[in-house]
Amino acid sequence: MIRPRRHVQGLAAYALAPPGPEGAALLNQNEALRPPAPGVADAVARAVATAHLYPDPDWTALRAGLAGTYAVEADAILCGNGSMELIVALIAAYAGPGDEVLSTAQAYALFRTAAAMSGADYRAVPEADYRVDVDALLSGVGPATRVVAVANPGNPTGTYLPEGEIRRLRNGLRDDVLLLLDEAYGEFAGPGLPLADLVTRGDTVILRSFSKAWALAGQRVGWGVLPAAVAAEVRKLLNPNNVSLGAQAAARAALSDPDYMAETVSLTTGLRNRAAKRLRSAGYPVPESATNFLLVPFGSAEAARAADSALRAAGIVVRPMGGYGLPDCLRITVGTEDQMDAMVKVLAASDWRKT
Ligand SMILES: *Cc1c(COP(=O)(O)O)cnc(C)c1O
Repeated sequence: MIRPRRHVQGLAAYALAPPGPEGAALLNQNEALRPPAPGVADAVARAVATAHLYPDPDWTALRAGLAGTYAVEADAILCGNGSMELIVALIAAYAGPGDEVLSTAQAYALFRTAAAMSGADYRAVPEADYRVDVDALLSGVGPATRVVAVANPGNPTGTYLPEGEIRRLRNGLRDDVLLLLDEAYGEFAGPGLPLADLVTRGDTVILRSFSKAWALAGQRVGWGVLPAAVAAEVRKLLNPNNVSLGAQAAARAALSDPDYMAETVSLTTGLRNRAAKRLRSAGYPVPESATNFLLVPFGSAEAARAADSALRAAGIVVRPMGGYGLPDCLRITVGTEDQMDAMVKVLAASDWRKT
């Protein structure tokens, strides 16, 4: 009898929401509301002409582009097959059986999965009002804690912890605890990498992604800024040719058009704020979002399910939040103006917020 390792057998299969009707608006995966910059498709086509060759295993041109755009050292950057690959490798490198990964109640689900893949324990401290609570994290750290993982802005909450709070978190952690800051939505929160200096302490990693503001979810490119010693270890766990030729070309082409990315961000935040305002006036206590999605709380889990069905009937697929401990909430990605208007119309027409 062929048997998988026990901790693998215990993992749940990856599950997405069931697909919507043909032609539905897919507001369930936090994808960008428009395709990538106009130069991207041509750059990919040119790159694929030499697809008989392996991609650059050192991501040289891509790292140079990132170093210029984000004002960090190219040597401090690692690129991943999506930032998901980097999250899994980081946790595998620093936490295993007997160790603990600590995060928060409404954290990005991959933190828990990555800990389980690595055989490490996972623990979550409560959040308050859909926000990461730095004091709860600091008092939750125990002797076995090896990694503290925080997404900022958060997914699925969308909320943002100011820079000072993250610095207070880092300063309160032991220096043998790795702080994993997942900033997949960082471009929606503001320009640059304001916490990059934390990496030079040697105990903090910042991860970013091309999947959200740069509109390249389908190409699978993530990146991070890591202390040199941490990067050397994590690198050993990455596939040597992890970012395909086309994906590296796509990401470089996207970086060469920062105005397009900034415009995607401002279109998104404009539509997001307009929808949030209308949902709040309809009575939904939508938390402030610093991302390309909104978390919408309903009066109960049943109300959230009823709203989800009504949205599906109107051709709008959103993400139920039961798997995140928020069965009374739906997470709704910011889509086009028409999609957002249709979504608000469905939710404003009923009183799911109360029941
Ligand atoms: C979308 C997302 C990612 C991005 O993952 P990729 O592998 O780069 O597509 C990482 N972290 C969070 C919190 C996310 O929401």
